[in-house]
Amino acid sequence: LDATGNEAVERIYEQVVSRNQGETEFHQAVREVISSLGPVLDKHPEYAEACIIERVCEPERQIIFRVPWMTDQGQIKINRGFRVEFNSALGPYKGGLRFHPSVYLGIVKFLGFEQIFKNALTGMPIGGGKGGSDFDPKGRSDHEIMRFCQSFMTELYRHLGEYTDVPAGDIGVGGREIGYLFGQYKRITNRYESGVLTGKGLTWGGARVRTEATGYGSVFFTEEMLATTGESFDGKAVTISGSGNVAIYAAEKVIELGGRVVSMSDSNGYVVDERGLNLDLVKDIKEVRRGRISEYVESQKRARYVADGSIWDVPCDVALPSATQNELDETAATTLVQNGCVAVAEGANMPCTPAAVHVFQDAKVAFAPGKAANAGGVATSALEMQQNASRDSWTFEHSENRLKSIMVDIHATCFETAQEYGAPGDYVLGANIAGFVKVADAMLAHGLI
Ligand code: GLU
Repeated sequence: LDATGNEAVERIYEQVVSRNQGETEFHQAVREVISSLGPVLDKHPEYAEACIIERVCEPERQIIFRVPWMTDQGQIKINRGFRVEFNSALGPYKGGLRFHPSVYLGIVKFLGFEQIFKNALTGMPIGGGKGGSDFDPKGRSDHEIMRFCQSFMTELYRHLGEYTDVPAGDIGVGGREIGYLFGQYKRITNRYESGVLTGKGLTWGGARVRTEATGYGSVFFTEEMLATTGESFDGKAVTISGSGNVAIYAAEKVIELGGRVVSMSDSNGYVVDERGLNLDLVKDIKEVRRGRISEYVESQKRARYVADGSIWDVPCDVALPSATQNELDETAATTLVQNGCVAVAEGANMPCTPAAVHVFQDAKVAFAPGKAANAGGVATSALEMQQNASRDSWTFEHSENRLKSIMVDIHATCFETAQEYGAPGDYVLGANIAGFVKVADAMLAHGLI
């Protein structure tokens, strides 16, 4: 029986590749999800009959637009803007905006596709989408960032709405950018529509714990995973790649739970201190000064800075890749396993290559895929929408408790689904199947649309 479902999935994958040529990250994300779905098709012939997988792989709508803007020197620049409204079976399209020179349609589609199942796993009423631009914010002044965000929103606003599509941040888009985007949306539409964007500032409709949520959530998930074998973060050495929003708040929670963060990085290199990094300094460098991680060693003489190396060479018990896609390959995974790493959770979206994931699974390292482990960010965005809709504002404690219970539930769902499908401990399979089934049932209920 199994062979039928698996064969169908293989055919669908080939179709996706030939219809979306050159979009390698999108192919990778599709393969990762649908290679778990053979047994689901065998169990639910109604999904195959209604072509649910074929439909879920095709975005409902893709928007590509010109973003003209002017530098401080008066030079005109043109970037490309994207919003892929991938799936609205469970709610309005929801997902971040990424500003990074590597952004093209294939990246936005991979992220949007992941977002469908991640959002489903949160149990919140949100569909999947993603957007962004190939704009490079690095080295740009505050005024340039503002003009870019205003131009970007001048086109995008017509596609948004609290019941339609609700963007948030991602790489290169934080509180500052969300502020400029929101200001422009409000000006163009003449509506204080708080629920149209999430990640807002606390004084103008933002939610407590949204900033911390992705990082905290990934640590809560890992904590649950460790607990299944009677372990905890206490005394563990943890390597966290990146030093952006996800990495910083993952580090904060690790330290709170008694772990040591031995290494963090940026796109130029990494810093190491086996006795544990000083997170306040990392925050000051990245959040206040918007500087480089190399500045860390200027005042911390016992730490080392390594330029151009692999952060995964640093021995650790737990690894939290929280920088970007495909940052941890087979070689890095092998090194981590040899150094005794027991758990890996993806704080970023698809940071581990497929070969790296195989290495972890073969070595029985507990492995949490991003769509489960980093879902706390978007889940807290949904809590922000909830507070906006009811014109309410929750305390930090209440918000963190909600986040924690959402992560505990996601872990339980993935764990139980893996067991149900005869693959205990396989969080990849559990997350893919549980996320997909939820979306598929809603799509079936809505008919052929
Ligand atoms: N960009 C984040 C993610 O990858 C958050 C999206 C959101 O809050 O809408 O899930």
